[in-house]
Amino acid sequence: MSLGPTTALLALFALLLGAGAASASPSAKVPTLVFPVLGEARWQDDFGDARGQGGHQGNDIMAPRRALALAAEGGTVKFHTTSSRAGCMLYLDGASGTQYLYIHLNNDLTDANDNRGTCVAGIAYATGLKNGAKIAAGQPVGYVGDSGDADGGNPHLHFEVHPNGGGAVNPFQHLVNARRLLFSAQPGTTFTLALTGKVANAAGEDLQLNVDQVRQWPGGRKVKQTGQKVPVVVPGTALIEGLASAAGLAPFPTLDLLTRGLPVTVWTQPAKVTFAAQTGAVGALAASRVVVKP
Ligand SMILES: [Zn+2]
Repeated sequence: MSLGPTTALLALFALLLGAGAASASPSAKVPTLVFPVLGEARWQDDFGDARGQGGHQGNDIMAPRRALALAAEGGTVKFHTTSSRAGCMLYLDGASGTQYLYIHLNNDLTDANDNRGTCVAGIAYATGLKNGAKIAAGQPVGYVGDSGDADGGNPHLHFEVHPNGGGAVNPFQHLVNARRLLFSAQPGTTFTLALTGKVANAAGEDLQLNVDQVRQWPGGRKVKQTGQKVPVVVPGTALIEGLASAAGLAPFPTLDLLTRGLPVTVWTQPAKVTFAAQTGAVGALAASRVVVKP
């Protein structure tokens, strides 16, 4: 059976409509995100809560003033500086087609709420970041603050997720599932870390650490973490210091002497910044020195 011209045309329309509907679907895939704030942060499912201007379109992520806001996905940034409600704001157009909104970025020059800063790189936006720049997932985009109508409140990042650049969806589950970074640095550069926390497990060359604080070099930025478990390889050449035994300081301490709950600081070997290293993936971090705190 051959289709008449009208039927064929209708079939073509159906095909076009179908294709259009698929690409604009609100259920379009939002990728696994990088958590958009570095270090300790608190948030709850406050999407849709009643606010002055209607339902809350995102989640408020409470964090210390000037905590680093990170790219949830690789993409292109766009500064937005003309909304009195949003304050210093940034759009991130993700490679997946999802758009992310970063609202209430920092506008203070001191540790107080002085409102003397403007919406520029180094104050609201990440140092050196240019409007229109392409960035990788996990790269710094700005600093958490209280600009716009968050002025005087607790610093937080108002974070929105817009699949296909359409209406906002609830970011909560995406944030729960997001990858947390231990540190953020330019991919390909060299880093070292000091990880402070408690021993979760130690056997052979494998140390698992519940990390409370990360210090990164170059720069020395110190960030509180929330005790996430991080695996570190401790090769035989690594120094293990400060470990007391029944007979005083152990002359040749091994990792097996590190009991669960022991407070330690682990210095990592210099290595190239990769996404795996930033997330503390298995095998990505190796120790040069482990110091047990007295
Ligand atoms: Zn909000």
